[in-house]
Amino acid sequence: MSGWVKVVGLGPGAETMVTPEVTAALDAATDIVGYIPYVARVAPRAGLTLHPSDNRVEAERARAALDMARAGRRVVVVSSGDPGVFAMAAAVLEVLTPADDTLDVQVLPGITAMLAAAARAGAPLGHDFCAINLSDNLKPWALVERRLRLAAEADFAMAFYNPRSKSRPEGFAKVLGILRDACGPDRLITFARAVSTPDERLVTVTLAEARPEMADMRTVVLVTNSLGRRAGRFVYSPRSVPAGPDPAGTPA
Ligand code: SAH
Repeated sequence: MSGWVKVVGLGPGAETMVTPEVTAALDAATDIVGYIPYVARVAPRAGLTLHPSDNRVEAERARAALDMARAGRRVVVVSSGDPGVFAMAAAVLEVLTPADDTLDVQVLPGITAMLAAAARAGAPLGHDFCAINLSDNLKPWALVERRLRLAAEADFAMAFYNPRSKSRPEGFAKVLGILRDACGPDRLITFARAVSTPDERLVTVTLAEARPEMADMRTVVLVTNSLGRRAGRFVYSPRSVPAGPDPAGTPA
């Protein structure tokens, strides 16, 4: 039987947010490869081998998945959320070789954290938005700051992944400072933690009220554009931006 690799997203946490396509891939798999907590989300069964690995070994993990598929195994590489959002899809494609042209490789989408969180909050990403990974593991910190400033200047709504970790305690405080300078103190910011799990917690405050401790590694942070407002318990960026000088203050 010929092997394959499917790089899948398990969604933000809840079983109900795993797509039927991903469930079918997991059911058909002989091997599951991925970061320990994500592999732990796959139910063990006879005939299924789990290969949990540490966070820092993405390339090795991707190569191991491809090796198994070349040997005829049916391999699912798991990420949380969507595999193309700061996750394993690119890591697998980076280690594909020309000899793999005939190998059956697929990427199956999942519900990424920012979309699950935005839906809970209302529609903070309701107009043009961007997503920025605040971790400087895989890029220089200077680039994080540059993208942040330019996104704020362009008046994008914003989603921030990996906002804060023990190894980068000052980074997120800096981010909040840059945002306050660029967006002003009244802009709405939502901290969405562990969305769709029993630990879910959402809080929306102004940038003036935002504190670094409001985020941890299980939090995705959403900032509205300059027209963002509250509607009861919801927060949203409106569907339209009026013509004329843009709301971020740049002359039209
Ligand atoms: N591929 C994943 C993102 C991996 S990066 C996706 O598409 O969602 C890991 C970061 O995702 C975390 O630091 C956090 O910012 C965010 N995240 C993942 N799951 C989350 C959840 N259930 N609730 C809130 N944020 C989450």
